[in-house]
Order: sequence, then structure tokens, then C-alpha cells
Amino acid sequence: MPELNPFKIAQQQLDEAAEKLGLDDATHEFLRWPQKELIVTMPVPMDDGRTKIFRGYRVQYNTARGPAKGGLRWHPEENIDTVRALAAWMTWKTAVIDIPLGGGKGGVTCNPKEMSEMEKQRLARGYIRAVASMLSVTKDVPAPDVYTTPQIMAWMMDEYEAMVGEHHPGVITGKPIPLGGSEGRGDATARGGIYATREAARVLGMDLRGKTMAIQGFGNAGQHAALLGHELLGLKLVAASDSRGGIYNEKGMDPKQVVEYKLKTGKLEGFNGAETITNEELLQRDVTVLFPSALENVITGANADKIRCQISCELANGPTTPEADQILHRNKVFVLPDFLANAGGVTVSYFEQVQNTYNFYWPLEEVHQRLDEKMTKAFHGVYQMYLREKVNMRQAAYLVSVARVAEACKLRGWV
Ligand code: NAD
Repeated sequence: MPELNPFKIAQQQLDEAAEKLGLDDATHEFLRWPQKELIVTMPVPMDDGRTKIFRGYRVQYNTARGPAKGGLRWHPEENIDTVRALAAWMTWKTAVIDIPLGGGKGGVTCNPKEMSEMEKQRLARGYIRAVASMLSVTKDVPAPDVYTTPQIMAWMMDEYEAMVGEHHPGVITGKPIPLGGSEGRGDATARGGIYATREAARVLGMDLRGKTMAIQGFGNAGQHAALLGHELLGLKLVAASDSRGGIYNEKGMDPKQVVEYKLKTGKLEGFNGAETITNEELLQRDVTVLFPSALENVITGANADKIRCQISCELANGPTTPEADQILHRNKVFVLPDFLANAGGVTVSYFEQVQNTYNFYWPLEEVHQRLDEKMTKAFHGVYQMYLREKVNMRQAAYLVSVARVAEACKLRGWV
């Protein structure tokens, strides 16, 4: 079994692109590593009077095209290599969607499911105090990721503003709307993926109305994919899963009711009329569109041959290993690679920053229209590269992005 360290995978993916692009050694080596990293140890008072020690991370991978941008993940398995990988993918993501930002990422090793709201607030504020030297609207701007929410972003923005003594809403995105959040940020990741899926179906000559979808990971990205896949593409939700397991109904389930059930009970299991399946079974169901929307390394050399979907729209970061990529390509599964498919989130985060800077806010329709333009253009840019270079869609996306970042590094005279 090849090593599934996400950062090594990110480096391996870059190496392939560097070779194909004929990058010089210095540029290639520069792009293999983050420019800056900070690891912090934070004491946080718990509700029971104890002080608990947490490890936190912030990585700025590349800032040639603009300030670092990337979410904050709170997860028990969070570690520096996951953050590095996610920061690398953010760099390729902002480049493929062509917004003037670099790539970064952060996180804390913790289990927010076991923490009270007050404990989360103390951790959020402690994290900002610990990494503040890395952050500013022109240096590095965090956002939500797995198990972080608009409320957590609000506490973080408030802590930063308290430290600098001025309003700087653009220092963090994914904020609640009353505090300078953007209309349309909540479902932006999934919406962008749905627009990309629509374009994929168009070039593949597929009609998605009445066809089936399965969703692994039923959080922010996954829930909105279920709702919008149905609303905008006419897809039928037949399977969904979260960290506890999944549900399946071949006749289809009402996405609104599934989302309501998940929000009310915190789980999917027990949803009326559906049979229980495992996460592994979900991936292998015969569906038209699969949305991996949980975590990395779920489609590997061990199960890729059993994946039955026609389109895999990767809303999660890093769900497919390089070995699995080759198998999916051979089996003619059309993959919308993560940093293209889930770029809607950072795109609307960028719109949020622009609105914060102008202190002037756009209506929802304008956000949707601008997001659609960005996703459609990025999809076709990558698709043209795929046709021209006869590579898979992930390699095509890498060729587009790495060339853009390398060019910016060269223009700055860094390499
Ligand atoms: P979230 O915390 O809202 O939801 C995560 C979901 O995944 C939860 O339903 C959880 O139960 C489920 N999950 C966790 N472990 C699982 C497992 N082993 N098997 C199946 N399900 C599991 O997080 P999110 O923001 O929806 O992020 C999901 C993915 O999308 C991550 O890879 C994240 O990096 C990526 N992403 C998110 C955004 C964003 O704007 N939120 C943007 C780009 C990419």
C-alpha cells in the first residue's frame, strides 16, 4: 500500500506537473514546500476548571499571486502534513480559478464535538492571538473548513480586531452576514461544484435530469450539494453518509428532509424509509454523480476499481489518491478534481473580501452570477488542457495552475 501522507501526495502530484511543464529545478523545488509555517501550543481553560493544551498550525504555502488564503480545520487527526497539503491545494485552487490570492491553510488538533460553545470560543480567540503575526488582510486570510463555522469565524475576527484596535472584517471570511459575511458564502463550495458538474455533463453529452447522486460527508459541502444537485441539475439523491455511516434508498430521498433530519438529530442513520449502508458501500453504489464531500484518501488503489459513478465531483480536498486516479481514468470515470470542483468556497470568500474592502455589499443574484462565470471559465480552461495534453482532469488542472504560479514567482524574480 503506498503511503497516504497527504503532503507527500500533493508533492507527487506537483512533481508530475513540473515534469510535464519542463519547470526548471529551482522553481520546481520552491513549489514543493510551503514558504512559511507556524506551529503553536495553546493553553485553553476548560469549563471544568482544567487547562487543556492544544496544538495549532498556520501554513502559507505560496504568496506569489497574492495574500495567502485558506480555511481552518478543527479535527482530532489534524497535523502539520495535512495542513501543508491543504495549503498546497489552496495555492493551485486560487490559481485555477484565477483570483489574485495565494494559498494557505490552518488548523487545530482537537475534537470540537466534545467541546462546549464557551470552550470553542476560548480556543478560537487563543488561536488568533497565537498566529496573529501571520495574519492581516494583505498577508493571510483564514476561512472555515471541516468543523469550523461562521460563528467561529466571528469570534476570530472579533479577537483580531480587538488586538489591532480597528475594524478589519476582511481578515477572515465565511463570517455571519451581519458581521460582513457575503450573501451566498454558505452554499458556495457546493454551488461551484454543481456548476462544474453541469459543464462536465454538457461536454460529455449527458442529461442529468432524473439521474442519481450519492454524497459522502454530509456537512456544509455535502448538504448543499444534495439540495443544489436536486434543484439545479434535477439529480435524485439515493445515498448519503456522515462519519457514523450512511443511508440508501434507490427510489430517491427528498434532500430537504434528509438535511432537516441531519440538522435535528446530528446523524443520518434512522432516516425514514432508507436502508443503512457503510461509507465504503456508498462509494461503490451505481450512481451517475458521486460527491466525495468528507475527507482525504477515501478513494484509493484498494477500492477505485469498484467505483461505479460516471462523474466524481470532489467537494472534499484530496479524496482520491494518485494510484486511484489512474484506475478511475482507465475506467472512464470523469473526475472533477478537488481544487477545481470545490473552488466555489474560496471564490465567494474572495468576493467577501472585495465587499469588505469597499464596505459595499452585493445582492445574492450578483454573487451567484459572478461565481457561475468563474467556475464555468475555470472548468473549460482545464477541459481544454485535458483535451490538448491527453492527461486526466487532475493533471490538466495542475498544468493550468502550476504554470500560473510559476509565472508569478518568475515575474517577481524569486526563481
Ligand atoms: P463539515 O465539518 O461541515 O462536514 C464534514 C462532514 O464530513 C460531516 O458530515 C462529517 O460527519 C463527515 N465526515 C467526517 N468524517 C467522515 C468519514 N470518515 N466518512 C464520511 N463522512 C465523514 O466540513 P465541510 O466544510 O463540509 O468540508 C468537507 C470537505 O470539503 C473537506 O475536505 C473540506 O476541506 C472541503 N472543503 C470545504 C469548503 C468549505 O467552504 N466549507 C471549501 C472547500 C473544500
